[in-house]
Parts: sequence; C-alpha cells; structure tokens
Amino acid sequence: MQIKPQKCFLCGEANFSHYASATDVEYFTTDEHYDFYECNNCKLLQIAPVPEDKLSKIYPPNYYSFATQKQSLVNSIKEWLDKRLFKKILNQLPGNDLKLLDVGGGNGWLLNIIKSITGRVTYTHVVDLDPDAEKLAIQNGHQYFCGRIEDFNTDVKFDFALLLNLIEHVKDPLAVLSKIESILTKDGVVLIKTPNYDALDARIFKHKNWGGYHCPRHWVLFTKESITTAAEKAGLKVNHFSYTQGAPFWAVSIMAYLKQKKLVNINASRPAFYHPVYKILIGVFAAFDILRKPFGKPSQMFIILSKK
Ligand SMILES: [Zn+2]
Repeated sequence: MQIKPQKCFLCGEANFSHYASATDVEYFTTDEHYDFYECNNCKLLQIAPVPEDKLSKIYPPNYYSFATQKQSLVNSIKEWLDKRLFKKILNQLPGNDLKLLDVGGGNGWLLNIIKSITGRVTYTHVVDLDPDAEKLAIQNGHQYFCGRIEDFNTDVKFDFALLLNLIEHVKDPLAVLSKIESILTKDGVVLIKTPNYDALDARIFKHKNWGGYHCPRHWVLFTKESITTAAEKAGLKVNHFSYTQGAPFWAVSIMAYLKQKKLVNINASRPAFYHPVYKILIGVFAAFDILRKPFGKPSQMFIILSKK
C-alpha cells in the first residue's frame, strides 16, 4: 500500500504526485519497495515512508568502508576537476585563518586535499555518523563530531562548509541548511553536491531503480529550481551553479538492470562497485556526461551558496 507523505519537507504543502517506486539495488539491505513522491508545488522529490527507524539496517556496517572505496575510485577519475573548483572557491575567501567544515566528511580525506592546495587553512572539522572514521580524522589533524549536523553545536564560525552528497540523505533539508547558515562567517561559502533528478539517466531509469535514488538512503532529491528554493528559504543565496557528471548513477542503474536480466551476479556481500563491469561503466559514463555537459543536464549538481 502506498503511503503518501503528509507534507512536503521543503514548502509544507500536501499536494503530491506519485513519481516512482524503487528498492535497494546497491547494498541489498531490503527487499521492500519505497515510493518517491514529487511535490506539485516546489518539485521536491521525497521518499515515503521515511525509513528513519531503520538506519542501522539501511546503512549496513560495511556501508562506510564501501563508500570510501567507491570514493577513491571515482576520485581518481575526477579529482583534478574538483581541485579546480576548490581553488576557485578558496581564491574568493579572504584572510589567512580559514576554518573549514566537512559535513559527511568521513576520515577527512577531502579536507586533506584542500589543505594541500592552500596554506591558509588553520582549522578543520568533520561532522559524520561513522565512529570508525573518527580515529582517522583525528589522526589527520581534524576535529570530529560523531553525530548529525542538526545536533552539532559550536561557537566556531566557518569560512567554507562542504555538504557533498549529504543533503539528499536528510529528512529536513531546510533545518540542515539553516544550521549551516548560522555557523557561517559573513563572507563564508557553502559547497553542495547533490543529485539532479531532472536528468537523462533519471528519466531512462525512472521506473528501473535509478541509481540516484540510492534507495532507501536518499530521502529528498532536488532539481536546480528546488535546491535554489531551499537555499533561499534558509537565508542563503546561490553564487554558482553547475552540473557535473553522474557516472555512479548510470553505473548503478545499469548494474541493477543487468542483475535483473541475470547477466551479473551482485549481492549484499558483493555490491555492484566491486564488479569489473561497474568500473568500466564509471569510466564510460563520466566521459559521456562530461562531453554532453554543454548540451544537457547531467545528474549531479554543484551549488555554491553564501549568506544573503
Ligand atoms: Zn513542496
């Protein structure tokens, strides 16, 4: 039975259209299907029911170590692209005492990269749910808060906050953005990376477990318009917007399709990204999305925000 959401997490309206159903085709933590509803008012896509009482099930113990391996694979392909973006952001930040926050930053690997770009970073903080990452993060010289960003309290004001592949995992994106706005310096910026469901792969795989659903771990999904609305409601403004390649979503979608056709063997103990075909798909679709970027909208977005 489909259970409609009671209200939109972004605009508060209760006017939805059923968009798609999906299940976990990456970690295989559940056979249950979850429904995604699109708000007819603000176009936020949200999962129903929100599996907030099943966190330990839907984020299995191997989730973070798999995620780290996935990160290193994807990073080797596009690290130079990101470095360019980070350089651009850092160049715009004044002062020699920069304080950085990475929400969902794991062991602080990205903060390490940013610190290697500039000598102006004096303080780095990770907020994440992974207790195993805490030790490494501290070894790497970062502060660590093990918990949700909503529960993070600090007197520090940050010049640069990173929310990469984070905002889509939360139930209340407005609360998260408002929290970030409150701990930002006057000239501080926020970099968000999040899926865009107004994309070619999202349309092709809409009813075939599109990888961007990351079901049931992505609870809200945006387009350019709805992420802009969310930012503005939280007292932030958009300084920069760009699309970026969605190779992981192509690859997960295609692997799920191949599994359904019994052409690949993937399961809970051997998720798709261990499969050699997955790695080929990542390379092919990263190139495909980068080539078509001038003419289309790939399925991930970079948004840079600052205080209004
Ligand atoms: Zn809405």
